[in-house]
Amino acid sequence: MTQALAALKDRVAGTVIRPGDEGYEEARRVYNAMVDVRPAAIVRCANDEDVVEVVRAAAERRLDLAVRGGGHSVPGFGTAEGAIVADLSPMQSVHVDDAARTATAGGGTTWGRFNDVTAAHGLATTGGIISTTGVGGLTLGGGIGYLSRGFGLSCDNLVSARVVTADGSLVTANADENPDLFWALRGGGGNFGVVTEFTFRVHPVTTIYGGPMFFELSDGVALLRYFRDFITTAPREFGGFPAFQIAPPLPFVPADRAGQPFVALVSCFNGPAEEGERLLQGFRDVAMPVAEHIGEMPYAALNSAFDGLVPPGLQHYWKAAYVREMTDEAIAVHMEHGPKVPTVNSTVHLYPIDGAVHDVSADATAFGHRDANFAPVIAGMWPDPADNEKNIRWVREYYAAIAPHSEAGGYVNFASPDDQDKVADNYGANYRRLSEVKRRYDPDNLFHLNQNIRPVPVPSPRGSTA
Ligand SMILES: Cc1cc2nc3c(=O)[nH]c(=O)nc-3n(C[C@H](O)[C@H](O)[C@H](O)COP(=O)(O)OP(=O)(O)OC[C@H]3O[C@@H](n4cnc5c(N)ncnc54)[C@H](O)[C@@H]3O)c2cc1C
Repeated sequence: MTQALAALKDRVAGTVIRPGDEGYEEARRVYNAMVDVRPAAIVRCANDEDVVEVVRAAAERRLDLAVRGGGHSVPGFGTAEGAIVADLSPMQSVHVDDAARTATAGGGTTWGRFNDVTAAHGLATTGGIISTTGVGGLTLGGGIGYLSRGFGLSCDNLVSARVVTADGSLVTANADENPDLFWALRGGGGNFGVVTEFTFRVHPVTTIYGGPMFFELSDGVALLRYFRDFITTAPREFGGFPAFQIAPPLPFVPADRAGQPFVALVSCFNGPAEEGERLLQGFRDVAMPVAEHIGEMPYAALNSAFDGLVPPGLQHYWKAAYVREMTDEAIAVHMEHGPKVPTVNSTVHLYPIDGAVHDVSADATAFGHRDANFAPVIAGMWPDPADNEKNIRWVREYYAAIAPHSEAGGYVNFASPDDQDKVADNYGANYRRLSEVKRRYDPDNLFHLNQNIRPVPVPSPRGSTA
């Protein structure tokens, strides 16, 4: 293995960083500090050819291969003990084609960079709500964000991808070329290859109206019920979600209320401010906010507004669900567990996934559960490893309580390392086809450091499986 890695140094344009090399300690880190492992090599890939070299080296030597885009995976799939890491972070070029209304991004691009470039053209596509998250992992798992009610999931906006598959081939996946791979990439996670380039449909988005509002917990039931009903008829230009959140010590939060838990509403209206004001008035009629920071701002500014709450280096443990109907009983469960949110970094978001997400038929992409209306996430994040047990317990107890009110699966991108047994449920009826596409493109499961889809077994001549 040492020889193979040494040879790789001569064959790639990027950098190979090995234990003992300068920068190794920084290069081995991923966003979730709970993941403290030592890969055998991190290859900072400079181009497609570098990715091909790394994939071939891993496949030939049967090395564990981790693929890292933005590095935000909660289970830390962008690294592994003794693995070779294809780190795509140098591949962050973004090009906009105004005439075609598309934007093409390198496989390691973050949403912050993507949004900054497309904003200069007055355009955007659905991305995540934190700017440091990678376009790669987020899109491949689906991609829920402020714009998904209007424009669909991130993966719904993917029009083409350049992919290095397990045999080291560089292929295009879109509606015309390798359509089965293209289908699987849109929700199936990093199971099918390394995407070196993503091309997205982009839409006119400039200034939005919105921001966060914090409400008393005593108004929580009324607000959550109001949101549940409001969202069924809200214009698709309205993105946003209810949340449980400890108020940070910010200028717009009364000093004596910072550090206390609230029911929050984070909104993003991609339309005229007056209409946004009218929509938010409905919430004010239900309850007066204790604190708010609402107004017009560039979409890209909202996308980075909460980055400070989730700096790199926190401990992470998350759980996810899908919900068809947010019943009064489910709301009561949220009202029991949400207010116990233990740290200012932790949060619970109840993302609506209706609108344009429901325009796409359930089997048109690999993303599971298009029939769900909400994708709740219980995102435990805290700074001190000494508090792991307490924080993990909060997430688990909360999740166990909402499970009876949820579908069997959850959104793969919000799942934890101990959720591998839920992968089939996460995809529902699409799992079987995913497993078949996996067999076709990655029969030996080279890309297994992810919420793993197993290749469907090859039938043996006697009819049993091998
Ligand atoms: C703070 C924070 C905020 C988040 N907000 C949102 C949100 O608003 N909406 C949402 O939908 N999700 C959100 N997520 C979840 C996020 O979508 C997942 O964590 C996602 O996996 C992160 O992608 P990444 O590229 O940053 O991570 P990585 O750790 O680099 O990768 C995650 C997975 O994707 C694979 N992968 C990454 N890039 C590629 C590529 N180019 N080709 C092939 N495989 C690749 C990796 O192998 C790994 O399996 C958030 C996560 C965090 C930590």
